[in-house]
Amino acid sequence: METRTGTLITKDAARKFLRDKGLRATAPRLAVLRVLSVAKNPLSYTQVLQHLGQMDWDPATIYRNLVKLRDAGVASVVSRAEGIDRYALAGAQADGPHHPHFLCEDCGRVACLPELTASISMDGPWAASIEKATVQLRGECPDCVERGAKAPQPSGGQGRRSLPKIRN
Ligand SMILES: [Zn+2]
Ligand SMILES: [Zn+2]
Repeated sequence: METRTGTLITKDAARKFLRDKGLRATAPRLAVLRVLSVAKNPLSYTQVLQHLGQMDWDPATIYRNLVKLRDAGVASVVSRAEGIDRYALAGAQADGPHHPHFLCEDCGRVACLPELTASISMDGPWAASIEKATVQLRGECPDCVERGAKAPQPSGGQGRRSLPKIRN
């Protein structure tokens, strides 16, 4: 169950989108926007570069544009797992804050997961102070589990699992 469509938006749509946000539709900016629009998972700056492949622009240009998109509210950092900012398109059909992200400790990919219910309850003076919590799930992604399944595994990695304790 994916929460995102991951459709590549057309250049015209991307251009219009940027202008609506008060940004000039420069070529590198359009390229970054399109990469983010097609990605199924949040991408780090390095991954954005990988998706762009061969390009005429300086990597620093891409970075500046990524930051620009973030500052304009077009993209947002949805995961900071392992100290790496990962970006996704902000807004309605894009990566929302209401689902958790999963970090694979094997291949390092960050995936959007379906919504889950997690509740934290607490008594005492700190209870009123808590306004938000970030849930970061970690483990082995299905691909890595499958790859590792050929070798003997300590646990099957199949089916439903109860959630381990959530820590931040
Ligand atoms: Zn993995
Ligand atoms: Zn997400």
